[in-house]
Amino acid sequence: MLGEGRSETLAGHGPKVVTQQIARTIEDAISAAGVQASDIAGVGCGMPGRMDVNGVILWSPNFPDIEGFPLVSEVSGRIGLPVWMENDVNVAALGEFQFGAGKSVQSLVMLTLGTGIGGGIILNGQLWTGFNSGGAEIGHSVVNPGGRKCGCGNHGCLEAMAQRDAIIERAALKMQSGQKSTLAEEVDYQIDKITPALVAKHAASGDQLSLDTLAETGHWVGIGIANMINILNPEMVIVGGGISQAGDALWKPMLRGAYAYAIYESRVVCQIVPAELGDNAGIMGGVALVLKAMGR
Ligand SMILES: [Zn+2]
Repeated sequence: MLGEGRSETLAGHGPKVVTQQIARTIEDAISAAGVQASDIAGVGCGMPGRMDVNGVILWSPNFPDIEGFPLVSEVSGRIGLPVWMENDVNVAALGEFQFGAGKSVQSLVMLTLGTGIGGGIILNGQLWTGFNSGGAEIGHSVVNPGGRKCGCGNHGCLEAMAQRDAIIERAALKMQSGQKSTLAEEVDYQIDKITPALVAKHAASGDQLSLDTLAETGHWVGIGIANMINILNPEMVIVGGGISQAGDALWKPMLRGAYAYAIYESRVVCQIVPAELGDNAGIMGGVALVLKAMGR
C-alpha cells in the first residue's frame, strides 16, 4: 500500500457531490503515494447497492437520488482515468479471495456483519454477481420467517436477525426484563448507549446477558452460513465486518448453528474463517478489479 486518502461520502448531498468526494479521495491517494495520475492503470471502486454493466446505479438505498446516475463515467471523467465499479461486498470478497483469507481456495462465500449484512460469492475463481447484478444478497435470505422486520420489507431476513440494531434490541429487551448484568450497569440502563462492541466486551468477561445476546445472534448467522454451504458447497466461508470481531461468544454459537444445519459432507470440507484484510478488503478488491479488467 503506497498511499491512502479518506473522505466522507456526503451521500445526503446528492450524486454530484458524491462524485466530487470520490474523485477527491482518489486524488489524495495518488498524491499520498507520491506518483502521477499517468502512472495509474485504473481505479477500482466498491459501492453499496447494485449497478448495471455500464456503471449506472440501479439501486442504492443509502444514497438518495443516485438511482439512474452514471457514477462510473462521471468519476472517470473527473479524474481522467478508467474506473471499474462493483457492489462493495462483492469487491471485499474479491479482495479476500485474491489477497486475504481466501488466497488458497477457488470458491468462497463472504459475509460482512455490521449495520447491515452483506454477501459476496466467488465460484471457480470468478465473482458471481447474478443475472442482473442482484446476486449474493445473503443478508436477505430468510432464516426466521415471521421474525424481525427487515429494511427490505420482509421479515426474518438474516440481516434483520443479526445486524447491529438487532443485537442492540436483543440486549435492551433482556435489560428491560431486569436481568442483572455488568453491561446494563456500564450503560446505566440506557438503551441508546448499548453498542455491539460493548456487548462483546462484557460477553468476554462472562456477563450472561451479553453472552446470551451474542449466542442468539450467532445462531442466526450460523443458519445463514449453513444455507450457503448447502446451496453452494464452497471451500470456505469468510466472516468479516465489525461485528465479526465479537470473539468466541459470537463465533462458537455461529459455528454450532452452521454445523447443525449444514449437510455433513459439505460442512466437513468447508473452512469457516475470519476475514484477514479488515477495512482494506474493499481497497484490495478494487485493485483486484483493475487487475482483472487488464487480464492479469
Ligand atoms: Zn431483507
